[in-house]
Amino acid sequence: MDHKHLRNVAVIAHVDHGKTTLTDQLLYQSGMFRSEELDKLAGGQHNLVLDTGDIERERGITITAKNCAVSYRHKDGHEYTINLIDTPGHADFGGEVERVLNMADGCLLVVDAFEGPMPQTRFVLGKALALGLKPVVVVNKIDKPNARPEEVVNEVFDLLGQLDAPDDALDFPVVYASAKNGWATADHDRIGEDHPDNIADLYDAILSHIPEPYAEGSARGAAAGFTSRQAALDSPLQLSVTSIQYSEYVGRIAVGRVTAGTITGGQKVTVINRAGEGSQQRVLKVNVFDGLSQREVASVSAGDICAVVGLDPIDIGDTIACPDDPSALPSVKIDEPTLSMM
Ligand code: GDP
Repeated sequence: MDHKHLRNVAVIAHVDHGKTTLTDQLLYQSGMFRSEELDKLAGGQHNLVLDTGDIERERGITITAKNCAVSYRHKDGHEYTINLIDTPGHADFGGEVERVLNMADGCLLVVDAFEGPMPQTRFVLGKALALGLKPVVVVNKIDKPNARPEEVVNEVFDLLGQLDAPDDALDFPVVYASAKNGWATADHDRIGEDHPDNIADLYDAILSHIPEPYAEGSARGAAAGFTSRQAALDSPLQLSVTSIQYSEYVGRIAVGRVTAGTITGGQKVTVINRAGEGSQQRVLKVNVFDGLSQREVASVSAGDICAVVGLDPIDIGDTIACPDDPSALPSVKIDEPTLSMM
């Protein structure tokens, strides 16, 4: 995979601001699904694919953190993969929000065009900024008669100021969207027009404003101590487990982002648990996300988000490391729920 054409994007929103509907449109309009397939998946509707429990049951997988990947052919002629990382907006049980955000190189901040930023917007955005992620702001539900997009954009700007965002994050791109009706525009003057079903401006904003993994000066590279993707690639394997899925056929599936090195189906690894104890294990196979499913690949490398099958024991916060040179990544703290955040 060419990492120049890969984007790892956390989707952030206060509950009901349209995260699910927007993610669904990003999948639907990518052209990855024929509409009959989508109809079947969504029980006759194009929306809320991600909330369809049937898909999860069909695959025998209990999804704890929802990931999906969109393949999109841009007008520049290149095919891009966009990993969309669903970020919980609720209270941060056990450091989950940070772990999930840690997989991303940037974020899509979805804000209701009438309600504006709400407590969960603030809470998750604060954590994203602390990790160096910059937002693409989606002012959603622009079709609502009481929408007040200009004020909402100003409120997002003020919120970023309150959260001590760096200057380049204050200079955020804005896309106005009606996820429900399947359209988006980056042009404020076109908000009131009749729109065809088209979110090309939203894909554009993601591809041009969210950096590829380990782009020069990117937050993730700096956090991991790598100045280039090549440096990350040349280092021994490290992958911090963000979530665990369970399949009745293959058991535990460890999902995370490869921080350094390469992981190959069939290879031996050392799994370092949070107590710092290592166990020698063998990877059965490595999957990447593909639409709403997973697809087996020979190997993945620094910057990829993947699902590793065949490791047990394995848990959230563990590091999958190279057996010859095992060292654990700093585990995002897994603490008790903080009541003040609920
Ligand atoms: P989530 O909780 O952020 O995932 O929000 P959902 O995607 O489930 O959307 C919450 C509600 O808002 C649903 O009833 C959607 O149909 C509705 N909704 C989502 N996007 C839009 C939009 O662009 N315009 C309007 N009017 N409603 C929307």
